[in-house]
Order: sequence, then C-alpha cells, then structure tokens
Amino acid sequence: MTRAPSVRRSTGSEDKDYRSYSFWLETAGEDLAPRPSLDGPAEADVAILGAGFTGLWTAYYLLSREPSLRVVVLEAEIAGFGASGRNGAWCSSGFPVSPGELQRRFGREATRELLIEMRGAVDEVGRVAAAEEIDAQFFRGGQLRVARGPSQLPSIERAYESFRGLGLERDVRLLDADETTRRVRITDARGALFNPHCATIHPARLARGLARTVERLGGEIFERTPVTDYEEAGENGSRPRLMTDSGEVRARTVVLAGEAYLARLRKLRRQLLPIYSLIVLTEPLSEERWAEIGWEGRECVASNRYTVDYLSRTEDGRILFGGRGAPYYYGSRVKDEYDMHEPTHEMLRSTARAWFPALEGARFTHAWGGPLATPRDWMPTMSYNPSTGVATARGYTGQGVATANLSGRTLADLILRRDTGITRLPTVNYRSRPWEPEPVRWLGARFVQRGLMKVDDRAERTGKPPTGKTLAEWLGRH
Ligand SMILES: Cc1cc2nc3c(=O)[nH]c(=O)nc-3n(C[C@H](O)[C@H](O)[C@H](O)COP(=O)(O)OP(=O)(O)OC[C@H]3O[C@@H](n4cnc5c(N)ncnc54)[C@H](O)[C@@H]3O)c2cc1C
Repeated sequence: MTRAPSVRRSTGSEDKDYRSYSFWLETAGEDLAPRPSLDGPAEADVAILGAGFTGLWTAYYLLSREPSLRVVVLEAEIAGFGASGRNGAWCSSGFPVSPGELQRRFGREATRELLIEMRGAVDEVGRVAAAEEIDAQFFRGGQLRVARGPSQLPSIERAYESFRGLGLERDVRLLDADETTRRVRITDARGALFNPHCATIHPARLARGLARTVERLGGEIFERTPVTDYEEAGENGSRPRLMTDSGEVRARTVVLAGEAYLARLRKLRRQLLPIYSLIVLTEPLSEERWAEIGWEGRECVASNRYTVDYLSRTEDGRILFGGRGAPYYYGSRVKDEYDMHEPTHEMLRSTARAWFPALEGARFTHAWGGPLATPRDWMPTMSYNPSTGVATARGYTGQGVATANLSGRTLADLILRRDTGITRLPTVNYRSRPWEPEPVRWLGARFVQRGLMKVDDRAERTGKPPTGKTLAEWLGRH
C-alpha cells in the first residue's frame, strides 16, 4: 500500500480510514473503531489532551499510583493517531539534545542522571508491556550509529568520548568497518557506535494496548473529541479546563499532551515547530536478500547526517527507512495531507537502495509520515504548575518513544506532589524560548533545512566532516 494523499483529505473525522495512516496502524491487530466522543460537560481530577504515548503513560502512572483518581483523556482522532502510531519503531535512550550540549547547559551530574533515566525508560517500556500483556513486539537489539563515509567517523568518535566523559561508556562500543559489516552490510560503512540501550517496538500496538490498559485501570478515553482551547485555574478559584465543541471538562489538573498538534492551539502556536518526518517500508524481504544484508541483531540503525535518517527491521522482515527532509509549512500548519510528500518519499526509497544494493528489484509497499515537535532549543519539557493547574510534556524533536514514558512518570509524580529523583531532572519545568513570529520563522526554518542538506551532501562528496561553521549549522544550534 502506498496511500494516496486523497485518502487523507476527508472533511471530518467520521470518514477517516485510520488504518491508512501508517503500516503500524494497519497492522495494529484491531479494526480501530473509534471510542465514543464526549457528549457533554464533565468533571475529572485530571483531564488529559491527547492519547499518544505522553497522554497515555501519564494516565497509566497516575492510575497505577492513585487508583481512585478520575482521569479523562480527550483525543481528537483515535488513540495512537499521532506520531505514537506512526514512528520509526525506535524505543531508544537517545535524547534530542546531545550529551555534550546537555553538559554545557546543565552540568555533568544532571546530564548523567537524565541519560541514566533515559536508559531506564527503555527497560520500563519493555517491563510494562510484558506486565500488562501488551503485544508491543518489544525487542532489545540495541542501536548502531553508522559512519557512512569517512566524513562521519569523527562524529561517532565524539559521541563515544561524550559517554566516556560521563562515565556511561560501559556496554557502548566503537566498531570498526569489519565489525560493523558483520552486523549489517551497508555500503560505505566505515565504523559504528553500538549502544545496547535501545529496542524496537510495534508503536501502534503499544499505543492501543496502553489505551486499553488505562481503561482497565478506570481511566476514560473519549475519541474524536478535539480540544479547541484550555483555561488555567483562575484567581477566583475556578478550575482549569479543556474546552471542546461538545462541552468542557473541568479538572484539578489539565495535561497538554498533543506534541506537534499543540501548535494548532492559539496559545501555544510559537512554542513548537512542527517538522514532518517521513517513512518508506519495503515488502517482507526474501531469505536471499537477508543473507546479503545480514542485520540478524535487528539493531536500530542511523547514520550521522544532520538531515536525520533512521532505520529498523520489522518483525516480519521488512526494512523501514525514515528521514527528515519534507518542508516546514508556513504558520506551523499541521495537516493530514502534509504526511505525504512524494519527493521526500522518493528520496528515501533511492537512499535505501543506495545503502542496501540487495534491495534492487524489491518493492516498497508503504509510505507515510507525520509531524514531530521541535522547541526552539530542542529541549523537551516535563512541566507542572500547581497554581495554574496545567501540566505538559512535549518537544521531543523526534525522539519521543522512550522519552514519553519518562514524561508520564514525571508528570504523575509532579501532579501527585511526589518528590522523586525524576522530578529534579533538568527537563522538569524547563522553558524554551518561543519561536520567532512569521514570516521569520518560515524563512529561518526553510533556510536551515536547505542549508543542512547542502552541508550533508558536501560532506559525503568530499569525505570531509562538516565544519560546524556554516550559517545553517550556527542557526540550527541557536
Ligand atoms: C514519522 C515519525 C517517526 C518517528 N520515529 C521515532 C522513533 O523511531 N523513535 C522515537 O523515539 N521517536 C520517534 N518519533 C517521535 C515520537 O513518535 C513522538 O515523539 C512521540 O510519539 C510523541 O508522543 P506524544 O504522545 O507526545 O504525541 P503524539 O503521538 O503525536 O500524540 C498526540 C495526540 O494528541 C492528539 N491531539 C493533538 N491535539 C489535540 C487536541 N487539540 N485535542 C485532542 N487531541 C489532540 C493527537 O491526535 C494525537 O493522537 C517519530 C515521529 C514521527 C512523526
């Protein structure tokens, strides 16, 4: 299936074919029939906007810790509709801000604690999936950051040194070209950084299974119920609330867990830049092709390009090849039709063939995409303000599968006023500055996107690593 964008251009939620939004939703093992919508005003202890990983993990930990809470989740489409049901399947301890930059901003100890918690989040996803009998296909194959071409070698060496500087290098290994090729045969691979703290999952099965678990614990999920606005608690004692066309939900705490789609809310428009990440998927490959490729360890694989690529091997023997490169849309617009961008999908198919000559003649059966959310300095936040009654976790910059689990536990602890190790991490109550107003935002985002592609191309052509000194690289960091 390569879904025609026209499938997505339905006018209302009613006629959406949710299975068409990703291979994962198509193979979620259920018909994705929407749950009932909210049909009038309601009261709750905690009202959550969004049934992706962030909203669902938050509901899960709240209810696990305080079973008597009334937790209501309002979802504009269906649980797992967003990035959580469409991603590259990496459940990784990677964090959007590099270890070096984290240290510069927050110091060594805080960075260490955060990265250790990220590793714990990978284990925790696997633990809960097993404990709650969610068939999430959790498989801990680790991660390979491959240096494709000589220009990428310094970057994996620097990454290894960062782990060493933090005392976190145990189990992380630099592999030479031969060791890399013994794991997976990728053209021009010069070496790789192996990190065991990473697993693959079936994202939609995890999201849908979590939603059912939340309901079993007593949470209520209303689907096809878009939140149109929210209000903080008032000085006059009024409670915070989520507003919808069919009534509002008043609660002690409201949680905003809509990631890239939050840019649609007027109050949050400049907090997050929606960036589209796109994916192509092959048919299940024959044994002969796999014999040529190797990859028995099913590691998550990426190279070191600025214009991010990410790969995984599915349980049924396909190659998933994802990458950025689709354009930013003026005004931070998020629309279903932007999920499909044929020039980017075609670029991904041809890059996949260049990485794996064994794909010659193999079919690509699926193509999809979705928006992820980038804060101004790439730093996710996990926040709760008791005086406004508003909590949020967002801004994962495309690394949100394991991070959302940490968010869920952190928000639950903050909301329940538990002072734990994770409520003191640098992500807690972190505030990024807002993005520039338009048209500067559009001009800047497009300039950086194009500039970084050129930097990547030049590095590949010349074999020399990026200098870090081009305007696009500088703007990308500031
Ligand atoms: C193509 C792609 C590939 C990715 N690959 C990876 C990967 O391999 N590994 C990784 O770690 N991360 C990856 N990410 C990022 C990761 O999937 C996300 O960071 C993570 O799933 C975010 O979860 P979330 O619950 O915060 O947001 P989402 O999953 O986007 O969920 C938000 C939910 O809120 C709902 N919503 C939004 N606004 C409203 C509203 N106003 N009212 C009601 N409901 C609303 C949406 O419908 C949606 O269901 C990828 C993202 C994309 C798009």
